[in-house]
Amino acid sequence: MSPVLEQWQREIETASGGLVVLVRVETDPVENVLRIAPQFPGRPIVAQRLSQEAFVVQFIRTHAMSITYEGPEGNFHFVLLNMARAADWEGLEDSILAHEFGHLWLNATGFRSLPMQQDALRDCLAIHVNDIVHHILLRQEARRRGIDAMAYWLNTREAWMKSVAGSEAPALDECQEWQIVAECVDALMGASRWPRLGEFLNLMRTRHPRLMDRAVQLRDLLSPLDLWDRSVYEYALSAVSRALSVQ
Ligand SMILES: [Zn+2]
Repeated sequence: MSPVLEQWQREIETASGGLVVLVRVETDPVENVLRIAPQFPGRPIVAQRLSQEAFVVQFIRTHAMSITYEGPEGNFHFVLLNMARAADWEGLEDSILAHEFGHLWLNATGFRSLPMQQDALRDCLAIHVNDIVHHILLRQEARRRGIDAMAYWLNTREAWMKSVAGSEAPALDECQEWQIVAECVDALMGASRWPRLGEFLNLMRTRHPRLMDRAVQLRDLLSPLDLWDRSVYEYALSAVSRALSVQ
């Protein structure tokens, strides 16, 4: 981990009073189970979370997730890396960690995420609402600290474009649709210097025209807002939540 990230980790720990713990989650394809290191601070909490189906359904679709836990065992921020997909961020681990640290730092400094409720669909909505709003702020904060939080994201999008070339868009469930909307908002608001942005947006518009329209609406809603104002931030969370819930 780079010194800049170590400094950011210390700031998260000071601001929140919780320990930041990096957890690499390995998938055993033979037994189809998830494995974590035998010992680390707060391990039973992570093991318990990884036994919840609703959580695992979300986790295996992502590269990384962070969990904040406050309880009798202590206060923790677990940064879970989905090692089954580690090839996607090879050489760019600082970028993906900056992304997760950004979420934690925002939560620790009063930009709280919508809470999880142990309900697969509602939690999926909350994850993508949180992502859409948090990502705008964390990209700015990471840039201020000299880290490019978008590097791994662009890498994975370029790999995705290659993998879907010439194929039909699959039917999506509601949760997958929200993920696509969130990705389109990320692209529209956070990838202006990406040479392949136009190509990516055209592809999204061809494959998911309705979802792309919703992303553009959200971009128009969020762009003028000063999300560093916490009351505006709270308004943005509820506005995005409402917009995504409408069919
Ligand atoms: Zn995120």
